[in-house]
Amino acid sequence: MNNLQTEVEEFRSYVARWVDERLIPQAEAIDHAGTFPTELFKELGELGYFGAMYPESAGGSGLQHPYSCFTVLCEELARGSMGFAAGVCMQGSTATHTIFQWGGPTLHEKYLAPALTGEKIGAFAITEPNSGSDAASLRTKAVKVDGGWLINGTKIFTTNGTVADFITVVATTNPGKGAKALELFLVDTTSPGFSVGRKLDKFSVRSSDTAELVFEDVFVADDHRLGEGEGGGFLNAYKSLTVDRIFTAALALGTGRAAYDAALRYAKERSQFGQPIGKFQAVQFKLVDMLAKLEQARLYTYHAAALADADRPITTEAALAKIVAGDGCNEVCQMALSIFGGYGLMNEYPVQRFLRDSYFPMVGGGTSDIMKLVVARQLGF
Ligand SMILES: Cc1cc2nc3c(=O)[nH]c(=O)nc-3n(C[C@H](O)[C@H](O)[C@H](O)COP(=O)(O)OP(=O)(O)OC[C@H]3O[C@@H](n4cnc5c(N)ncnc54)[C@H](O)[C@@H]3O)c2cc1C
Repeated sequence: MNNLQTEVEEFRSYVARWVDERLIPQAEAIDHAGTFPTELFKELGELGYFGAMYPESAGGSGLQHPYSCFTVLCEELARGSMGFAAGVCMQGSTATHTIFQWGGPTLHEKYLAPALTGEKIGAFAITEPNSGSDAASLRTKAVKVDGGWLINGTKIFTTNGTVADFITVVATTNPGKGAKALELFLVDTTSPGFSVGRKLDKFSVRSSDTAELVFEDVFVADDHRLGEGEGGGFLNAYKSLTVDRIFTAALALGTGRAAYDAALRYAKERSQFGQPIGKFQAVQFKLVDMLAKLEQARLYTYHAAALADADRPITTEAALAKIVAGDGCNEVCQMALSIFGGYGLMNEYPVQRFLRDSYFPMVGGGTSDIMKLVVARQLGF
């Protein structure tokens, strides 16, 4: 094994044990309840996993291959519960990455360090009720005032939204100027004028917290603006969101693996016409197709993560990984459900949860079709 494989596989074995012992036994219950699993989240934070992407100087783990390790963290957690994994993914990547990259020492001390130990929870809000794929058309406004900015607007689908202590908010400083006027502002959720509009109920990733957020004259001090001024902020957000696509692909891979493992076991246990259903070639072919899709997802996702570790461009590879893993794992989960027959529709078996959850990676962080647009742009269109 080379250096990369050794570090990543050691890292995986620790996470996998925690997932088997702590997360899987609670996965059904937290999905059913549809509430944010605070205790499990804090426990994972205390173990240091939220810092997997960051150097020791910032309070992180100081891993040599941070992107590959964080990819494996997302994958293994999603093998247990994609809902839980989605909240962790937000905490350990986009919500903290923007502060790590572009926040000053005060923000590092006040938000980044406690977020990496799980004492504070973070979120990232760009999507609005009328602006999703077309992020540049967002309407949340930031107006310059003495010593800072006043933020006004509404955000939707914010992961960790109702439980967050801080939120990186994307707002426009000039609604007429599109993407060029988008900036990042770190909002403390104790700020006057901030409120949770509503917690959103959903059929997929139910244990992840998803919210509508309202900002009414929320004051943000100058040093809470992240980035280098007009145009820089959006570019910064875009970099964090690009990396995030690899982690979303990893979420799909983890849940796809769980669905495949469950279906393989079931195909060997369930008998019809006097033999295990896995003896029927139609069932075998499904399992082989599932395996091929998982292998494809694995290769694309790990390749993009290795490029990120090598500080190489990832725009195309991260988008391709998200398409291949997201769409592929949804198909894997559909096939797993069909192998379970009628039992697949029963809540006492987790395959229905795997299928429900598999829709999230095809939307979160940009839909599969938007990923295709990203790649097409790289081809010169
Ligand atoms: C569970 C969950 C968690 C999320 N967490 C967060 C979060 O933490 N922070 C955050 O900011 N956002 C978050 N999102 C938002 C997510 O990123 C958006 O839902 C996604 O980008 C799509 O935007 P939309 O829902 O407005 O769909 P729309 O943009 O309205 O798209 C609707 C359909 O039109 C298609 N479409 C749109 N434009 C084009 C085009 N140009 N060409 C071809 N097809 C097009 C899309 O592919 C899609 O099929 C989350 C979403 C979900 C479901």
